[in-house]
Amino acid sequence: MARSLLASIFGMRCPSCREGKLFSNSNPYRLKGIAEMHNRCPNCGQVYEPEPGFFYGSMYVSYGITVAIYVAIVVLMTIFGNPGIWEIVISLSVVLIIVAPMVFRLSRSVWAHMFIKRKKESKKND
Ligand SMILES: [Zn+2]
Repeated sequence: MARSLLASIFGMRCPSCREGKLFSNSNPYRLKGIAEMHNRCPNCGQVYEPEPGFFYGSMYVSYGITVAIYVAIVVLMTIFGNPGIWEIVISLSVVLIIVAPMVFRLSRSVWAHMFIKRKKESKKND
């Protein structure tokens, strides 16, 4: 059964067939191999990096996700209290350190899904 687009993005699957894994190691917190991706989809053979430097653009996605997380945290802190500037700065720093590996991989997955087209023969399950 084919995954939905969101399940494929958050599950870090191949944008073309939505089955094969994007990353060699599924644990983003094993930092040594955080950026190691398969060259091709193990399931359908889709090339993951169609041109050199393809994933540099995912930095824009990463920036957007990080800003969204920061805004959400500041809004929540403001709703549930009256935080000082250092409470906000320390909270955002701690959260950034914790979520950075996930944001890194998620931004690559979003970027790949934006620019690598879905294979036509598997579209019937959408
Ligand atoms: Zn694939």
